[in-house]
Amino acid sequence: MENPCHMCMPMGGIMALKGIEQTMVIVHGSQGCSTYMRRHIAEHFNEPVDVGSSSLNEKGTVYGGEANLRKALDNIFKVYQPGLIGVITTCLAETIGEDIDRIVTDYRQERKLTTPIVTASTPGYGGSHNDGYWLTVRRLVETLATNTEHHNKVNVIIPNSSPADIRELKRLFAAMQLAYTICPDISETLDRPYLTTYSKIPAGGTPIEDIRRMAGAPATIELGVTLDSHVSPGQYLQENFGVPLFSLPIPIGIQNTDTFMKALETISGRKRPPAIEAERGRLLDGMIDSHKYNFAGRSAIFGDPELVFAVTQLCLENGIRPVVVTGDKSGNVARLLPKNEISAATVVLPDPNFDLVQQYAKKGGVNLAIGHSDGRFLTERDHIPLVRLGFPIHDRIGGQRLLSVGYTGTMNLLDRITNTLLAEKYTHYRQTMYQKYYRKSS
Ligand code: SF4
Repeated sequence: MENPCHMCMPMGGIMALKGIEQTMVIVHGSQGCSTYMRRHIAEHFNEPVDVGSSSLNEKGTVYGGEANLRKALDNIFKVYQPGLIGVITTCLAETIGEDIDRIVTDYRQERKLTTPIVTASTPGYGGSHNDGYWLTVRRLVETLATNTEHHNKVNVIIPNSSPADIRELKRLFAAMQLAYTICPDISETLDRPYLTTYSKIPAGGTPIEDIRRMAGAPATIELGVTLDSHVSPGQYLQENFGVPLFSLPIPIGIQNTDTFMKALETISGRKRPPAIEAERGRLLDGMIDSHKYNFAGRSAIFGDPELVFAVTQLCLENGIRPVVVTGDKSGNVARLLPKNEISAATVVLPDPNFDLVQQYAKKGGVNLAIGHSDGRFLTERDHIPLVRLGFPIHDRIGGQRLLSVGYTGTMNLLDRITNTLLAEKYTHYRQTMYQKYYRKSS
């Protein structure tokens, strides 16, 4: 696809594995693939990002890359001593038909290894980074979760989220006195405090033992309403271990956050504390204050389907009309959006690319773009201001600190959106007045 709104599958696989404690990743393919992915992730998070590569060359491509992958595994064990290794594939490895499951099984048996190695088949051409992310999370849960005694930690399975958003989810769970296992959890691994000593694998991430025990959880909350059931890790836990599944949208927007908080109340059997109710009240107040500006918004929303779904709902509940929205191949985003609120003027693209987004944005008079940095050309070429959200953000600082979930995060995001509309209005205010009124009367 030309000019896609997403990156390739293994990129998402790396993102998922970076959220697991003491984990290293090997990308089975040419060195260029892992370098490109490391660069994107490092620029977004402003953190060092180590990713192993099997460095497939011409010989490996012709005769098979098993020797390269084995060497990469040897080196990773020697240099990093990880608690888990993720092996994911690329276009090249899949095109030559590499059987990574067989290679990894043989390798572990020969060396009598107890360290888990999780594989995921992620050809770059097979889907988006979002597909690679969810497939890898599913493979982690399928490989590690095992029958265990019941305990009180709620599984919280999340889409690719900013570290600030993950910390906010943890705060809400703590406020409801609920124990949790967030998976994956990049809140520490990709947003480290300054330290004087360097550790090759950063601290933090979902403990491997906690993933093993996910089968004994009282419930799973999965922020993944746009997921097909065969890739949903929560569905897997429900079908195989009977863990009740709450499939919820990302808590962005007042309705989605209400749904999220109600689920926490149901699971905990407790009402939310007054401090959280006050945050809801402040959000409502802020929505009323900004509505007189937001009603003029016409938005183009692009990025990961789950994020796009939640942000589209945020726009709808604040009077901003979504003109063009990127969806997914399964059509889940289009199916789930409220029919009576999505007007005939809203286009949901099932197989999106930026050429189409640009085309519909121009036609529909879009004055606000919401999405990652790759949509910045909408500003450069068509003067549509961009509210940066999601991954990757490589032309601004602080992508990892963007807070958008919960009542407080929603208020932050809504303020950014409203202020972008206001800045646009005041930049062109005199010019518009002149064109509208002065020229007509003269
Ligand atoms: S699209 Fe394929 S070749 Fe390109 S970086 Fe991704 S995996 Fe590598």
